Amino acid sequence: MNCNHCFDELHEECGVLGIYGVRDASRQAFLALQALQHRGQQACGIAVYDRDGAIRVHKGEGLVKDVFSEDALARLSGDTLIGHVRYPTTEVGGMENIQPFRMSCRAGCFALAHNGNIVNAASIKGRLETMGHLFHSTSDSELFAHLIGGQNNGSWIARIMAAANQLDGAFSTVMLADGVLYACRDKYGFRPLSIGRLGSGYVVASETCALDALKAEFLRDVEPGELICIGPDGLKGFSHSKCSGRRMCAMEYIYFARPDSIIEGCGVHIFRKRTGKLLYEEHPVPADMVISVPESSMSAAIGYAEAARLPLEMGLLKNMYVARTFIQPAQSMRDTGVKMKLSPVRSIVKGKRIAVIDDSIVRGTTSRQIVKMLRDAGATEVHMLIASPKYAWPCFYGIDTGTKEQLIGSDHSEEEICRYIGADSLHYLSEQALFKASGRSDLCTACFSGDYPTDLYNLDASG
Ligand code: AMP
Ligand code: SF4
Repeated sequence: MNCNHCFDELHEECGVLGIYGVRDASRQAFLALQALQHRGQQACGIAVYDRDGAIRVHKGEGLVKDVFSEDALARLSGDTLIGHVRYPTTEVGGMENIQPFRMSCRAGCFALAHNGNIVNAASIKGRLETMGHLFHSTSDSELFAHLIGGQNNGSWIARIMAAANQLDGAFSTVMLADGVLYACRDKYGFRPLSIGRLGSGYVVASETCALDALKAEFLRDVEPGELICIGPDGLKGFSHSKCSGRRMCAMEYIYFARPDSIIEGCGVHIFRKRTGKLLYEEHPVPADMVISVPESSMSAAIGYAEAARLPLEMGLLKNMYVARTFIQPAQSMRDTGVKMKLSPVRSIVKGKRIAVIDDSIVRGTTSRQIVKMLRDAGATEVHMLIASPKYAWPCFYGIDTGTKEQLIGSDHSEEEICRYIGADSLHYLSEQALFKASGRSDLCTACFSGDYPTDLYNLDASG
């Protein structure tokens, strides 16, 4: 298996959920998983600890509303569960990769689901395979589960701590065993994971928007390197690995998370609005109006328009019923996808100089199409402003953007990209502005700088 192949197979973007001690937990999970749906639309699942002490799983391909019928939810009776939504990637599919996974080991039956990407997965998997372990999927969750089950003995806490300690990279993981809910985060804290209180029970979720959907009260985040255990004795925290520096993913703030979520104390909408303001301070352009690329760049566009004292207009309309273009495997399909998904509002853009705000340029497909459609609709100038630095390096921590050669920023200058997308000017936000907007300087920004916070083992950043 070459590294590129390995890279593609490993990538998954997801949302996780855990509920402890809440009546009708599966119906609550149905709401919370829908609030996390932006983190994954390809597949979803729930594993519940039912009243007979067994773990019952229902999962399938599709959106939460389609996978869980009223009957399916009724069959998932119990007050403690874990849930998962999974993002479509170009290579990984199939029922065997849908989470949560239910596994058995000497200690009993358990279920597990995770978000993130383990960078030393290949070497651990190779070691386990030589010991006779058989893998059904390409998912890191299964690897985690094998490490937990493979311990000779010990409590669940001891098993999970020993397993988590061997893994390097990004994981926000939820687990269910013997009616107890476990949740842990890698020692860098790449992916978010928050804890809320719901009546006498608890909710753990990738984003606080899922806690809000259940009207749960935010308690705190799971700390980097922490394992929390929620059972009859309440909530307890343990340290599975020493955190030697936080590294929250900058792309969570820039693109991935929902604007109403709060990640490690900073509101996503507020962060994006600040980046828009800073983008204006760094790059004021001559324009009659500001427009956003719906939906993810709306907050940044508001910030830019406010700072520039320009009208924020609806220059592009999004058709909500077209599948996301980003994940289409072929370039030709992506091109058609953008055209079907976005339409220019001719009466607004005709004869105008437009400042278009987007959150990122990955392959350049979206920006190129947008510039063309705005010009075709009569815009006299199109200035493209990106509310993040130039995306130039692949992510190995769970955000699927493809290999380095697919990233237009990896081997093209800003001038070349501007020419390719056909804009009058193109401007990116500085890395310093990201730190300023978040009020912290310890974000992971590896996809902009190539400065990866972990060892990359056998993964190839240049391919
Ligand atoms: P591209 O057309 O390849 O340049 O992709 C840029 C668009 O994809 C931007 O409008 C972003 O909002 C969006 N985007 C950025 N990162 C991701 C990601 N990891 N998954 C899906 N879409 C993304
Ligand atoms: Fe996030 Fe980029 Fe770091 Fe990946 S490399 S975790 S996308 S900031």
